[in-house]
Amino acid sequence: MVAQRARKTERVRALHAKVKNSRKDQLHNLSTALVEEYGAIFIGNENASALTRIRMAESVLDAGWSLFRTMLQYKSDVVSVWFDEVDEAYSTRTCSRCNRRTGPNGLEGLGTREWACLECGAYHHRDINAAENICAAGCRRLAVGIPVRPAPCAAAAG
Ligand SMILES: [Zn+2]
Repeated sequence: MVAQRARKTERVRALHAKVKNSRKDQLHNLSTALVEEYGAIFIGNENASALTRIRMAESVLDAGWSLFRTMLQYKSDVVSVWFDEVDEAYSTRTCSRCNRRTGPNGLEGLGTREWACLECGAYHHRDINAAENICAAGCRRLAVGIPVRPAPCAAAAG
């Protein structure tokens, strides 16, 4: 009985390790694909530790966000892809078409995945709209910044 329980514990541990490794593999595959495809990568500077106070943010940590960010950064450096962190304040609330802050607001708004802009009528998916705003902000920084190395502005934010 004791041996059986020990074997079970061992098996559970092995399964946990397997899940953890396959998630890490996925992050490696995705980050490699991104730096191979794009000349510039912009990422929101969201504060994960502040977000943990909000229940909605569990997925941010589950997804190994900081590990993914680290992978993107060092892989970008290796192949000379432009990598930059962008202030993503209001990126979910700002309409990526007309730039007005018409999106869902506050803690209640976090549950809203899709919304229509009251000003221009554009229909948005929350994450895609935020990514478009982050991408645009990154491109603006590239345009006014001091480019240390040449990088095309065809980019996607993740
Ligand atoms: Zn709009």
